[in-house]
Amino acid sequence: MKILANDGISPAGEDKLKSFGYEVITDPIAQDELIEFINTNDIRVLLVRSATQVRANLIDACPGLKMIGRGGVGLDNIDVDHAKSNGVEVINTPAASSQSVAELVMGSLFSMVRMTYDANRKMPVYGNTEFKALKKKYARGLELRGKTLGVIGTGRIGAATSSYALGIGMKVIGYDAFMDKATVYVPFPDGTTMEVMMPMVSLDELYRNSDFITIHVPAQPGDKPLISKAELSIMKDGVYLVNASRGGLIDEHDLIEALDSGKVAGATLDVFINEPTPKQELISHARLITTPHIGAATLEAQDRIGTELADKINDFFG
Ligand code: NAD
Repeated sequence: MKILANDGISPAGEDKLKSFGYEVITDPIAQDELIEFINTNDIRVLLVRSATQVRANLIDACPGLKMIGRGGVGLDNIDVDHAKSNGVEVINTPAASSQSVAELVMGSLFSMVRMTYDANRKMPVYGNTEFKALKKKYARGLELRGKTLGVIGTGRIGAATSSYALGIGMKVIGYDAFMDKATVYVPFPDGTTMEVMMPMVSLDELYRNSDFITIHVPAQPGDKPLISKAELSIMKDGVYLVNASRGGLIDEHDLIEALDSGKVAGATLDVFINEPTPKQELISHARLITTPHIGAATLEAQDRIGTELADKINDFFG
């Protein structure tokens, strides 16, 4: 049976699929050549990440396709209902990257409070000539311990992020539109785990009381931002924000205004409206850490994604 991994698959995932006896094709096929390739090569499983679009027309035109697999969480690039109603199985790997996204968020918190990302932009240019001025510029850092992290969306990534934050002594409060409880597991090196019930608060309380706010919810209906001017106005002055979920959950225009006015001291965006061409004002802003949607981009997460897909495929066909 042939599997086309059109947006790539980790070596561990490819090896596992081969060990089950499947043929894996990893050469990327252009979107407009995909239908013909799938039909002429008798592809039964199409694996994608976020780049390849699997729309109704492709599903209709490829009757031999039996399964579509998404490496990762979001299924925005797949017409899931259409696939299912045509008897095509759709699988994904929702939990495989939670840890990696959580670590990216924590890294950005550490970087924002000491402005290391900005120092690293300036040092190569001014490090030899204006060392003392730079030292003064970055002299007003903050510690994270003891500060309050507000987590919007206490699902897999929200809970994983909370676990790290509790581990470094932050206070964590959560809000979730659909869950009134969230359990966070904080692991210790001896293999034991502490179970912590996250204090859940209203969204209003979270905005008013958090020193840092991180968003971990899916894209909202109509791609409506969760945080815009009105929400920003009730937050603490000098709050820090992180969005590593979906582009636009923080209104990009209102965020720039709030950064410029000092209302928001710093922010991190891993996701953008209009990827892969985010607004220039965002990517060049001095108080904004921007990364090119790399939340799940660790070797460990990619391995977990690949092997989990391989197991799910084999469970289905094996
Ligand atoms: P999850 O389903 O485990 O958790 C999401 C939580 O958000 C749920 O508990 C849900 O009840 C809650 N929620 C939904 N709408 C809400 C709202 N309006 N207000 C408050 N809570 C709301 O999902 P997850 O695995 O934690 O993923 C979270 C986000 O991270 C998703 O958008 C996902 O696409 C994104 N993600 C990004 C990357 C990256 O590379 N940056 C990687 C993986 C996932």
